[in-house]
Amino acid sequence: MRIDLHTHSSVSDGTDTPTELVANARAAGLDVVALCDHDTFDGLAEAVQAGTELGVQVLRGIEISAEHDGTSVHLLGYGCRADDGPLNDELAKIREGRTERVPTMLRRLAEAGMPVPEEVLAKYVGDSPSVGRPHLADSMIELGYVADRREAFDNWLADDRPIFVQRYSVPLAQGLDLVRAAGGVAVIAHPWGRVSRDQLPVEVLAGFAAASRLDGVEVDHQDHDAATRAELRALASRLGLLATGASDYHGTGKVDHDLGCNTTDPAVLTEIAARVAERGGVL
Ligand code: AMP
Ligand code: FE
Ligand code: FE
Ligand code: ZN
Repeated sequence: MRIDLHTHSSVSDGTDTPTELVANARAAGLDVVALCDHDTFDGLAEAVQAGTELGVQVLRGIEISAEHDGTSVHLLGYGCRADDGPLNDELAKIREGRTERVPTMLRRLAEAGMPVPEEVLAKYVGDSPSVGRPHLADSMIELGYVADRREAFDNWLADDRPIFVQRYSVPLAQGLDLVRAAGGVAVIAHPWGRVSRDQLPVEVLAGFAAASRLDGVEVDHQDHDAATRAELRALASRLGLLATGASDYHGTGKVDHDLGCNTTDPAVLTEIAARVAERGGVL
């Protein structure tokens, strides 16, 4: 059984529609795929429907923009009730922050000699409620300013680059509690990927684990090298956290993140499903 617990569709910053994503998951030989679009549940209904038609088990996930001490942390929620009031109020606030910063980033791009007309950006955002830097990157590629998303981030859009503008993210502790209260299982995505272990220290993870606010950590992820994976796996085992693995697939938007390039142990999925059922969520 091949299980990929973290993927994106064009409903956020991936390039496949939810249906295309599920078809590609099937073609990649996956039995189970979780759609975890950034800060929105909007793609789930289509993905689940496609899963039924194509014979792939689709899990309901989300990747929530959180922060700890001013550092960006991505929080995966599995099986959250998509109609949960408090969680949706917070997601709306996060999406508003995404939208509000766009004019400033467009102004900075223009000042840097890379004007992006609004209609070009609109084409890449499509009907996504969760506008993100990858949509700006795709616009920059079309306009010939950069070759690919990676170059756009490395030179211009990454958190330490000139076009980046901070936006609202939910405090991690609050995000963890919102996920659980919505019936979900909370897993920190790529904990030591772009964020270092100084910014998200072991003690913080241990504290949330001890308080039963955190369920797991994403261990097998392309942003973790072999040593980091080994350390995280040992840490998860010591703290009683679930260890997951996933591709973080973004369609053609992210190279080296092919569907199924990392997978999750079926026993871990069984435990996730049991916790969702216990909490009244919907996986
Ligand atoms: P935002 O949602 O606007 O904060 O932008 C962050 C998103 O950009 C994340 O979903 C990442 O997957 C994506 N991202 C970050 N760095 C890169 C990169 N070097 N290449 C492609 N995508 C990236
Ligand atoms: Fe993304
Ligand atoms: Fe992420
Ligand atoms: Zn992701």
